[in-house]
Amino acid sequence: MTSRNAPRVPTRWRQAACSTVFWYNHVRMKHRFRTVLVLALLLAAAPLRAAPDRTLDSLHFTVYYEGDRLFQAETVRLSAETSYAKLRDLLGWAPPGKIPIFLYTDREAFRQSTGVKRKELVVGVATSADDAIRIDAASLFDSPDNIVGHELVHIFLFRFLGSNINELPLYIHEGLAQEAGNAPKAAALTAVIGAWKDRGLIPLSDIRRDFPRDDTGHLAYDQGQTVVQFLLERGGWPRIRALLNLLRTGVSFDTALRQTYSFDSKELETAWRATIRQRAQPSLWNDAATGAVVGVMVLALGLGYLGKRKKRQRLARQEAEEAVEEMEVTAPPSWWKEDEWKV
Ligand SMILES: [Zn+2]
Repeated sequence: MTSRNAPRVPTRWRQAACSTVFWYNHVRMKHRFRTVLVLALLLAAAPLRAAPDRTLDSLHFTVYYEGDRLFQAETVRLSAETSYAKLRDLLGWAPPGKIPIFLYTDREAFRQSTGVKRKELVVGVATSADDAIRIDAASLFDSPDNIVGHELVHIFLFRFLGSNINELPLYIHEGLAQEAGNAPKAAALTAVIGAWKDRGLIPLSDIRRDFPRDDTGHLAYDQGQTVVQFLLERGGWPRIRALLNLLRTGVSFDTALRQTYSFDSKELETAWRATIRQRAQPSLWNDAATGAVVGVMVLALGLGYLGKRKKRQRLARQEAEEAVEEMEVTAPPSWWKEDEWKV
C-alpha cells in the first residue's frame, strides 16, 4: 500500500466510520434473494483465488489486481482517473498522493478483506483508515468501473473533511457519492416519488448515521441522492462546496447548512418533502385525469348505446305504424270481406 497524506483522526472515529458509512448497495433489494442464491452456487463451484498482488500505476491510483485481470485493471484505472478529474472540478479540490484500489475477482476474498457480511450485497468499500477502495470485481452485480466512481467520492470526502466527516449526514454523504458517481439521476427521483405514493419515505433523521439493512436500504440511497439534487437546484456545486468548506472548519451540519442555504436540517427535510409531493402531484393528477377520461368515455358509450337503442325503437315503431297504415290502405274494406265471405 502506498503512503499518503491522510488527515490525522482519532482511532475511535476511524474504527466507527468503517463499519457504518461505507455500505454501498448497488443492487436493488428486490433481486436480493435471487442474486444471493446465484452467488452462493457460484461460490460453491469456484475455488478461492489468490489476493490481488500485481500493481498497475497511474497518476493518482495504484490498482492491485490478480494476474490474469490486466485488462480489467486498465479499465478501472481509466474510469478512476476520469472520475478523479470530474470530482476535482465539482468539489474544487483533490487529495494528494496515490489512492490504492484493490480488485477481487473472488467474492469470498473481497468479503474477508472488507468484513462485509455474507448476506449483504456490498460490492465496493471505501475505508478511511487506509484511504483505500476495495471492489468486488467478479462483476456479478455491477462492473468495477461503475463502482469505482461512487467509492472515489467517499475517499475525496474522507480526505477533505477528516474527522469532521461525522458531521456530514450519511444521506448527504451517500447522496453525493450517487450523484457525483455514475448513478442514474432520474431513476432516484422516480423511485422516491413511487415510495412517497406507496409506503412513505424514511425520515431523514433515521438515516443520518446509518442506513437500513432491510428492503428499504436502496430507498435510503435514492432519498439521499434526491436531497443532494434538491441542494444542487439551489446553488449548484459552488454552494455544495461552500457547505463542505464550512464543515471542514469544524462547525455543525445545521450551522453550515444555515449559513449556506438559510435553512437547517429540519427545514431542509420539510422543503425536500414538499418538492417530492409537488413532483408526485402531476402523476396523481394524470392518474385522476386518465380515470376521468375513461369515465367520460364509458358514459359516452353508454349514452350512445341508449341513443341508438331509442332510435332503433323509434324506427321500429315508425315501421310498425307505417305497416299498419299500409295494411289499412291496401286491405279491402271490411264490408267487402264480409260480402265475400258471405258469397
Ligand atoms: Zn457509498
